[in-house]
Amino acid sequence: MTQTKQVRTTCSYCGVGCGIVVEKNDTGLTLEGDTNHPVNQGRLCSKGRNLHHVAMDHSDRLLYPEMRLSRQSPRMRVDWNTAMRRAAAVFHSVIRRYGPDSVGFYVSGQLLTEEYYIVNKLVKGFLGTSNIDTNSRLCMSTAVVAYKKSLGEDSVPVSYEDIDLCEVFFIAGANPAWCHPILFQRIEDRKARHPETRVIVVDPRRTESCELADLHLQIRPGTDVTLYNAIARRLIETGQIDMRFIEAHTEGFDALKEKVFERTVDEAAAICGVRSEHIELAAGWIGETRSFLTLWAMGLNQSSIGVNKNLALINLNLITGHIGRPGSGPFSLTGQPNAMGGREVGGLATMLAAHRDLSRPDHRAEVAAHWGVPAELIPSKPGLTAVEMFEALRSDKLKAIWIVCTNPSVSLPDATMVDEALERARFVVVQDISSKSDTLQYADLILPAAGWLEKEGTMTNSDRRISYLPRLLDPPGEALPDAEIFARFAEAMGYGDHFPYFRSGPSAASEAGSSGIRSTNAGAADIYDEHAMLTRGTNLDISGLDYDRLKHSTMQWPVPDRDHPGTKRLFADGRFYTDSGRAKIFPCDDGNTSEATDPDYPLILTTGRIRDQWHTMTRTGKVRRLSQHIGRPMIEINEVDAMRSDIRENDLVQIDGRRGSLRLRAKISDSVPPGVIFAPMHWGKIGRSEKARANNVTNPLFDPASKEPDFKFTAVNIRRHRPL
Ligand code: SF4
Repeated sequence: MTQTKQVRTTCSYCGVGCGIVVEKNDTGLTLEGDTNHPVNQGRLCSKGRNLHHVAMDHSDRLLYPEMRLSRQSPRMRVDWNTAMRRAAAVFHSVIRRYGPDSVGFYVSGQLLTEEYYIVNKLVKGFLGTSNIDTNSRLCMSTAVVAYKKSLGEDSVPVSYEDIDLCEVFFIAGANPAWCHPILFQRIEDRKARHPETRVIVVDPRRTESCELADLHLQIRPGTDVTLYNAIARRLIETGQIDMRFIEAHTEGFDALKEKVFERTVDEAAAICGVRSEHIELAAGWIGETRSFLTLWAMGLNQSSIGVNKNLALINLNLITGHIGRPGSGPFSLTGQPNAMGGREVGGLATMLAAHRDLSRPDHRAEVAAHWGVPAELIPSKPGLTAVEMFEALRSDKLKAIWIVCTNPSVSLPDATMVDEALERARFVVVQDISSKSDTLQYADLILPAAGWLEKEGTMTNSDRRISYLPRLLDPPGEALPDAEIFARFAEAMGYGDHFPYFRSGPSAASEAGSSGIRSTNAGAADIYDEHAMLTRGTNLDISGLDYDRLKHSTMQWPVPDRDHPGTKRLFADGRFYTDSGRAKIFPCDDGNTSEATDPDYPLILTTGRIRDQWHTMTRTGKVRRLSQHIGRPMIEINEVDAMRSDIRENDLVQIDGRRGSLRLRAKISDSVPPGVIFAPMHWGKIGRSEKARANNVTNPLFDPASKEPDFKFTAVNIRRHRPL
């Protein structure tokens, strides 16, 4: 007889957070978009539609813990107890000898909130270091800092519903048609229903999102602030600002006015490489509209001046009063499925749980009391952030690193430096689902993790919507949910009484063979409750939530009590989270601090994603049909630059930068302007050559406030590759 089980869950790729209905039967899995889900109403993009193939294909899965005692010896299969004892012995020894800041954890926006919470508790509350950062540092830490500066706290003010109400969209440094497809379809729907809707796209590349644009401002890379300042000037000049809102709810307007009047619109247009009339046109549409959304992603965030770019853009919402109103607000699009959940639990080296500050003694005391540890144990200083962590590893300041669910050997900038760092590290733990991660080659200890559908937990998408993800499948081999791995490590370190989540219920150990252990993940709800209680009284209060509620519907935070319906829109009352209650308008300098071009390296390389691949392809790379769109790495080059270097379509091109080189096939395209080339970031060494890895050439510069790397601006040169 056919056994069928159906669950409602959430896509584990991007921050849009689409609902999926998965059915398991005797022949495997099927899935479809959840027609009742408020995010996608049944739609799925190519990646989400193929997730069941990834979940069913175990050919690449890590199945058992493996360990090696020295870099010269081979890795051997071990049981979980041996693996945990080894990890604890090394971490105890390193911390005793060199102090708590000699170890680090580099985790992922793919983790569930419970997993993020528990590892942060362990590291910041018990190991005594804040050296825990996440690959979300690479995508949204800039927006976190900008929101905090301008709105008083890291708070995305809007809802996807605002897309359905918006009259003017300003999409900057984002290609949602490819990277947030279901959200982009909502914009298309809005425009189809209301053709008078205006879409402005700002991007140095002519991306697929431009097909919907009424106006594409194809600015020179790095000139975003100049453009936003010019639009602000034009709005002020024409009186198309909301003085009542500015006076009642903001501060800093006079300083902004002074700053933006330093350049005329004509001067700004010349710097940006666009026409003055187009800046005036954009300002006119913004000035006249009743609803105005600014949407942005990596093009703004991944920059050495990313925070300024964010602030200058948010200024446009503040001076026009387009925030806290239907159809209006600043809206940073998160890349990863649970980057937002990570922010809630303080999953970055620069923050504490529930948006609390490491630097505030009262905040540390609140968290310490909740965790049952002395307040002195929680570090008062930020820890090493993503790039800093690997630089510290290379210089031997950091001795041991635990890498969870991310592939820094491909995804971090200056990847050769990252490889060197991992080579030199005294001890590397890699906890992952896939054997296709390039980072695995450096692991002294490999820990197999459970994947999507194999564990229970929650995630928060780009519009603060929390979803519950049920467990449907057993993990293969001895793989365990990440939360349970962290709890077992805590136990091995001697902190087990503070991490009892998996001790109760059917014991994992009771299901074990001699070395095999099957997880029940029974404690995820307990972790969630503990996390939710720690948010009580804060601006993201979700103490009204638990699994019982979330199993019935998704909810947008804050949800401060059991009867609260969730919160669509923040700041509707015009009161912000700053001490004064006013939003802060920041005058932003428009100088760019990115790596300089020169005659040796005259071109700007910008990297990004393609439609059907995700991150370093450890999952999407398994699905053949996802390679039909773009099946191999390539470099987009404008015809002018191609001719100058005698490069023709499909030629192999050598791209040289100051730190390394790349070799990719040429795609001659007018989607990039002369002087700019584009390469996708997905490909690593595995299955390709070392020369396909875009981050061979990118630079480790980062924004000084957000520490987010500058992936969008690397000085390079190109030449046709002629084999010897
Ligand atoms: Fe998944 Fe994002 Fe595609 Fe939705 S848009 S199906 S969340 S990858």
